[in-house]
Amino acid sequence: MDVQSITDVKDNNIQVLGHMLDMGHEQVLFCNDPKSGLKAIVAVHNTVCGPALGGTRMWQYENEEHALKDVLRLSRGMTYKNSISNLNLGGGKAVIIGDSRKDKSKDLFKRFGKFVDSLNGNYITAEDVGISPADMVYVAQETQHVAGLPGKSGDPSPVTAYGVYMGMKAASKVQFGNDSLEGKRIAVQGVGHVGEYLVEHLSKEGAKLFISDIHEPTLSHVATKYGAEVVGLDDIYDLDMDIYAPCALGATINDRTLNRLKCSIVAGAANNQLEDEFVHGEVLRGKGITYAPDYLINAGGVMNCYAEVVGLERSEVMKMAENIYNTTIEIINYSRKEGIPTYLAANRKAEKRIAELSA
Ligand code: NAD
Repeated sequence: MDVQSITDVKDNNIQVLGHMLDMGHEQVLFCNDPKSGLKAIVAVHNTVCGPALGGTRMWQYENEEHALKDVLRLSRGMTYKNSISNLNLGGGKAVIIGDSRKDKSKDLFKRFGKFVDSLNGNYITAEDVGISPADMVYVAQETQHVAGLPGKSGDPSPVTAYGVYMGMKAASKVQFGNDSLEGKRIAVQGVGHVGEYLVEHLSKEGAKLFISDIHEPTLSHVATKYGAEVVGLDDIYDLDMDIYAPCALGATINDRTLNRLKCSIVAGAANNQLEDEFVHGEVLRGKGITYAPDYLINAGGVMNCYAEVVGLERSEVMKMAENIYNTTIEIINYSRKEGIPTYLAANRKAEKRIAELSA
């Protein structure tokens, strides 16, 4: 190894530890198995509230640095989500570097399961983008620390959608003085798993629905089934609407969309809706738009996993998701009282629970 390479390795090591220090991670495990082609990173952010739980994402990252940044950011997000949801779980996440359409194999997932098992239950995995319940079956052959297996808690989307619906009603209660969504003009961006269940709740309540999706068959199926009006992928930001519900991608609240949005509330399922929370959280507040924090109202999915881990009935999970209503009201009221953006109010509540439990 030449001097430059040694310097690179040292620099990279320092960068990893620097990132861990900045973001407060407890543990990061790099997994490499040339035989199966597995390259993965598991990040355990915080286990004060319990073992770290968070899904495994399979994605073809541009490079390993991007994968590391993603897993560090996502695992920290899980700490906040699990804490604010009052779950006895910490935050963790894993990424497998690869193309989920080409690089999957039984051996790869079994090897990944062995790595998860080496953490002795400090990290519990589940599905995320690019991973199916069938993949998790192979992981489960090597470790018991897996949630979201077929025949167990099942598709989390209905619970997630119910929680988002509760969060949206709570935001309406504070913003409009009552939580009825009847006649409200609501735009749902992305009508996939969660989006369609959300549309179902909203349509039952008599909302005036607008939807967009990049997948034409999904779009026309939902439009026909629930009588929703289709809008263009970009036109959705200019719509005259009461509520914008991002249920597709993250970062749609940004410098390019913020001066176009005419809604009073943002409440949806997508993760990381604010491209830059410091900047865009404050801009939303300044414009008088109430933002229901994403990780608070989309926590139904992780509640569903938690139920599998600790053995709760479906009715108990739905009760937990229903309680998102009360927490959302509490957070919005606190943010107004303190004159701070709602995302910050949510972060403070999540941090407070962790601080209390670690005291
Ligand atoms: P999904 O893939 O089933 O649905 C997403 C939909 O968005 C798809 O129909 C897709 O075609 C559409 N889409 C993609 N790009 C779009 C664009 N630019 N404009 C409009 N539509 C677009 O995913 P999902 O499980 O429904 O999850 C939706 C969002 O909620 C994701 O951001 C996910 O991370 C988040 N989330 C989901 C859960 C869950 O339980 N599934 C839990 C928490 C958070």
